[in-house]
Amino acid sequence: MTTRTRFAPSPTGFIHLGNIRSALYPWAFARATGGKFILRIEDTDVERSSQEAVDVIIEGMAWLGLGHDEGPFYQMQRMERYKEVLAEMKAAGLVYPCYMSMAELDALRERQMAAKEKPRYDGTWRPEPGKTLPVVPQGVQPVLRFKNPIGGSVVWEDKVKGRIEISNDELDDLVIARPDGTPTYNFCVVVDDIDMTITHVIRGDDHVNNTPRQINIFRALGKEPPVYAHLPTVLTETVDEKGEKHVGKMSKRSGAKPVTQFRDEGFLPEAVVNYLARLGWSHGDAEIFSRQQFIEWFNLDHLGKSAAQYDEAKLRWVNAQHLKAMADEPLAQLVAQQMRKRGVAADDRLPAICALFKDRCDTTVALAEWAAKFYTPVVPNPDEVAKHVVEGVRPAVSMLARMLEGCPWEKGAITEAIKEVLRATGMKMPQLAMPVRVLVMGTAQTPSLDAVLALCDRDTVVERLKAA
Ligand code: GLU
Repeated sequence: MTTRTRFAPSPTGFIHLGNIRSALYPWAFARATGGKFILRIEDTDVERSSQEAVDVIIEGMAWLGLGHDEGPFYQMQRMERYKEVLAEMKAAGLVYPCYMSMAELDALRERQMAAKEKPRYDGTWRPEPGKTLPVVPQGVQPVLRFKNPIGGSVVWEDKVKGRIEISNDELDDLVIARPDGTPTYNFCVVVDDIDMTITHVIRGDDHVNNTPRQINIFRALGKEPPVYAHLPTVLTETVDEKGEKHVGKMSKRSGAKPVTQFRDEGFLPEAVVNYLARLGWSHGDAEIFSRQQFIEWFNLDHLGKSAAQYDEAKLRWVNAQHLKAMADEPLAQLVAQQMRKRGVAADDRLPAICALFKDRCDTTVALAEWAAKFYTPVVPNPDEVAKHVVEGVRPAVSMLARMLEGCPWEKGAITEAIKEVLRATGMKMPQLAMPVRVLVMGTAQTPSLDAVLALCDRDTVVERLKAA
C-alpha cells in the first residue's frame, strides 16, 4: 500500500512555524516511505479565509521545499461532491433531519447544565423503530444530523498519544449539513480523506476531539479510518505589557511571524526544516542534519509526546550551523538577493566575501550587511575612529596607502606590504590593523586584515586610508 499523507491548512490568518510543522511531518513521512503528499486548502470558513493566507501557505511550503504531489485541492470547489455524499447518506438512512430551533437547543443546554450533565443533543428528531417523532414545524429548514452509533466506543492507536478510547455515549449526533444544505467541517474532512485515499493523518492535537466523530463517519461510509498521529502544540514565550513572561500556544496573537518572514529575515530553508524537525521529533541526539538525512530517519515512532517550545535563539544557532556548512556559490546567490533588496549590486567577489564572513553571521541578512561594506561607501563608527585612528598611527597608515598603491593586488603581496610598514615603524600588528580596519570597513571587528583588503577594491582602500 502506498502511503498517502496530507496537509490540510485553513487559510485563516497567515501560516506560522507552528502550523507548518504539520506540513513538514506528513511531507517527510511521504518522502521517507516513497508515498504521496497532498495539499488541501480547507477554505469553507469563507468569512475568515483569504487569498493572501493561501499565498503564504503555498509560498512558505515552496520556500521550505515541501513540494506536494497532488493538489492544492480547495474544499470550496468540492461542494458538489460533499452534497453527493450527503444524498447517499440520506438515502442509506445514515443521517436524519433535525428541526430543533436555536432557542430549543439553548433551553436544552441550560437544563443539562443545571442538572450537571454534559451538554449534548438529546436525539429528539432521531428516528428509531417504534418512536413517534414530533410534528415537523412549518417553514423551518432542518439541519442534517449524523446517526452516531449508540453504545460501544471508538478506539484508535494514535501514533503520538497511544491508545485512545472514547465512549459513543459521549458523542451526540453531529450536524453534518446546515439548513441551507452546506456541509460542515468534520464531514468534509472525512469525505476528502476518503476520496484522496489518505493513509496517515498527521495533524495538530487540537483535532483529537474531532477524531472519534470522524472515525464514526468513516465507518458509516463503509471505510476504515487512516492511521492518526496527533502532534502536540508548539508553545512560545510571550511578554505582556507588564513585562511578565508567559508560555502559551504559538499563534498570531502571541507574536508568531508568517513563515515567509523567516525567508526575508535571512534564514535558510534547510535550517528551518532542521529546526522544525527537532521540534517534536528526534533521532537520538542529532541536532544538525540535512533534509536528506531527515527524510532517511523520519518515522512516526519517534514523535515527541510533550509540547515543544519555540526558541528563536536556538533557531538562529541552527541557521548559523547551516550557513557555515553551505557552499559559497549558492550562499552568495542568497546573499546577493538580500543585497539587491537593499539596492546593492554584488559582483564575482561575493562568494569569497561569504567564505570569509560566514563564520561570524547567523543569517544571510547579517552576511549581506557585511558584504555591502565592499560595495558601498563606508561610514566609520566615530567611537572606533576616536579609539583606533590616533595621531601616532597616521604616518604608518599613509605609508601603507603608498605601498598598497603599487603592490600586486593579492593577499600574499598585501601581507608583505603590511609587514614592511610594521618593520619600518616598529609598530605591532594590532596598532596598524585596527585603524586600517576602521577606515576601510568602518569597524575594527573584521576577519584578518590581508584577506579583507584583498577582497576590497584597491582604489577605494587607498582613498580611504589617504583620507584619514
Ligand atoms: N484545517 C485544519 C486546521 O487548519 C486541519 C484539519 C486536519 O488536518 O484534519 O487546523
